[in-house]
Amino acid sequence: MTDFSIPFEDDLFASAGLRLTVDLTALTENWRDMARRSGAARAAAVVKADAYGVGIEDAGEALYLAGARDFFVATVDEGVTLRLYAPDARIFVLSGIWPGTERRFFENDLVPVISSDEQLAFWMAVLAEYGDYPCALHVDTGFNRLGLHIDDALALANDVSRPASFAPVLVMSHLACGDDPSHAMNQRQLESFRRVNAAYEGIDASLAASAGIFLGEDYHFDLTRPGISLYGGEAVSGMVNPMRPVATAEARVIQVRTVEAGETVSYGRALQLGRNSRLAIVSAGYADGYMRSQSSGGVPLRQTVPQGGQGFIAGHKVPVAGRITMDLTIFDITDLPENAVRAGEYVELFGKNMPLDEVARAAGTIGYEILTSMGLRHERRYVAEE
Ligand SMILES: *Cc1c(COP(=O)(O)O)cnc(C)c1O
Repeated sequence: MTDFSIPFEDDLFASAGLRLTVDLTALTENWRDMARRSGAARAAAVVKADAYGVGIEDAGEALYLAGARDFFVATVDEGVTLRLYAPDARIFVLSGIWPGTERRFFENDLVPVISSDEQLAFWMAVLAEYGDYPCALHVDTGFNRLGLHIDDALALANDVSRPASFAPVLVMSHLACGDDPSHAMNQRQLESFRRVNAAYEGIDASLAASAGIFLGEDYHFDLTRPGISLYGGEAVSGMVNPMRPVATAEARVIQVRTVEAGETVSYGRALQLGRNSRLAIVSAGYADGYMRSQSSGGVPLRQTVPQGGQGFIAGHKVPVAGRITMDLTIFDITDLPENAVRAGEYVELFGKNMPLDEVARAAGTIGYEILTSMGLRHERRYVAEE
């Protein structure tokens, strides 16, 4: 008889419907790897969006202990959280400073990245009131997202009337096409950024995110800004990804069911089975970031991979069957031996065996979006080699 006695203490991870394992050793090894690839430049660590979904507290602390002393976050809140785990690091806030946030910048020793005329004007007013404080300048070299216009940045560098308390510690820009090493835009942005670097002589310069580090030494300047590579994701399209996987997501099989040839599966009857089949129903769906666009049929948006996504269980990749639903996904396990999969076991959604970027391609997106879409409905465990 099955023993249904209740264990004295719950093991939340062992019984979770959806669970995420974060390998902090892989994370710090990836950072060291990117630091080596950055050559003479210092490597920062980009930990925005809760460290790409793996948790800014643990990831930030591990990276700090591995030696990272420059960090980039997107928002002030992220900076305030990170400060607790990276006591004497320099923390740059990419979204810059807004009226009403200056106190939190000062109290947590955060460096605003000034990236528009309005922010610059506000920053000058702040300096007039509070005195010296470091900042970074983001200069646009063709991305057209954030950044001062390059002519304005060059003029500012030579403006003798600017206040002495205005003390940028970093000038930076961001590449639009770094993931495509053959793109002519890279060289154009590099040449523009060289002018910025020359105008701000003596101040650190930073152009390369993960992809830019792979473009070579010319792109490294003084400080690099790797993000996705730290988390194991692919930075350069078409290149074999040398990074170690960091995050592994697994969903529990709630039920294995047998279904006859000719029957249909899930919403919209989008998949009709051509043979007698065994299906594993697992407890993760699009509400957990397991995107509906990976469904095996009936989702017109995805054109890249007609078969839809795959999971990994019992040593094999198995395809998604029918549409992915909010809380549940169905995998076709017919090709596995009869008793290979039982309820209670776990299907790997992405991670060590099911590459993140393969999953992303099946969903018509990028690994960044898969990682940052997991949400909060999972148990998380951090592991590290001794
Ligand atoms: C997100 C971001 C990075 C990190 O980019 P990855 O491609 O993840 O390495 C670097 N710089 C800026 C300005 C960013 O917004």
